[in-house]
Amino acid sequence: MALIVQKYGGSSVATPELIRQVAKRAIDTHKKGHQVVVVLSAMKGETDRLLALAHDMVREPEAREVDQLIATGEIASVALFALACQALGEKAKSFTGFQAGIQTDEMHQRARITGLDPARVRTELAKGRVVAVAGFQGLNEARDITTLGRGGSDTTAVALAVALGADTCEIYTDVDGIYTTDPHICESARRMEKISFEEMLELSSLGAKVMEIRSVEFAMNYNMKIHVRHAHQPGGGTLICEEDSDMEKKPVTGVAYSKNEARITLTKVADQPGIAAKIMGIISKSGIVVDMIIQNQSAEIDPALGQPLTDISFTVPLSDYARAMEMMEGTAAEVKAARIVGTDNIAKISLVGVGMRNHAGVASQMFQTLANEGINISLISTSEIKISCIIEKKYTELAVRALHDAFGLGQATTDA
Ligand code: ASP
Ligand code: MG
Repeated sequence: MALIVQKYGGSSVATPELIRQVAKRAIDTHKKGHQVVVVLSAMKGETDRLLALAHDMVREPEAREVDQLIATGEIASVALFALACQALGEKAKSFTGFQAGIQTDEMHQRARITGLDPARVRTELAKGRVVAVAGFQGLNEARDITTLGRGGSDTTAVALAVALGADTCEIYTDVDGIYTTDPHICESARRMEKISFEEMLELSSLGAKVMEIRSVEFAMNYNMKIHVRHAHQPGGGTLICEEDSDMEKKPVTGVAYSKNEARITLTKVADQPGIAAKIMGIISKSGIVVDMIIQNQSAEIDPALGQPLTDISFTVPLSDYARAMEMMEGTAAEVKAARIVGTDNIAKISLVGVGMRNHAGVASQMFQTLANEGINISLISTSEIKISCIIEKKYTELAVRALHDAFGLGQATTDA
């Protein structure tokens, strides 16, 4: 007998009929002799609907009341699920996040789980019931309802799996696994059997939407394997687990892209201590997350001051672009920048793979592949298992396909 946590996303419980199907799937697992805990998201579109209602009441709704409101989406899902199980003759009980013992910090709408006491869940499991827990929510010390941030039901599932010592954590969604790249733009994209936590973490941070990033972090920290599967189709899915020697054979595991960034360049700023700190300090104080930063070596000398000059470029999320430009315009005089140039006509293309650690030449092959397609690279950043390039937006699809091909990702073999 295994203890299995199954999480179903909003699209998998979008209608009463789909909720019944999810109930059947959970019951099937239970009938095989396993203990089953189901974590559900709100029905598709429900969280957005509730948020829009809140904004209809007041322009800037109080975070506490927003949480109070949007937590109901998940609560409705689990109650309906329990009723669906009961209609199918199965004993089931639903819990809100806080009834299931999920404690969080104070941060409304972005709360972190600080403790989890699943005693009630265990008691119900022991009685032979299927237990459903509302995702995305907990209770803070003041005993107010908090929510965990968009996509947070994944974190609920992983945290419960860890706290219960579950044998597996299954994430059911509307795709059948993690792909080598976006199958919508690359025909030869392939579902991976396995991917390491680290690679998944990079892919999530690069914009792959299948798994919420915090949940992957959580799973990695506690070594909780995650099995990503399609909610309504049979099939193998993808296992997210610790790195193994198979995974290291290929230099690159996946190609990711993002069109959600913008680049800002300050030209001819003084190349002296404190300038980068000043620019980045202003940006980070405003809560904007900078991804890539590049400072050129100074080539020019300021004729008036006899000081070296340099250019600094960085990228920010598209949603923060206008705000960041405004801030820089205010700072330009202070750092004596000649010009501020911004563009959102960019895309970030990234290669990810734990195999990069022991394969040389991945970067040069990436640059050559882009060069062969006549694509110019404007910024580059690397980490141990990732290389990212900023290119012109219109080349995104071409770049993804060319790189997917060049690194042989369409082929099923794991041999290098
Ligand atoms: N319902 C929440 C959202 O839409 C949480 C989740 O689905 O995981 O973000
Ligand atoms: Mg999700």
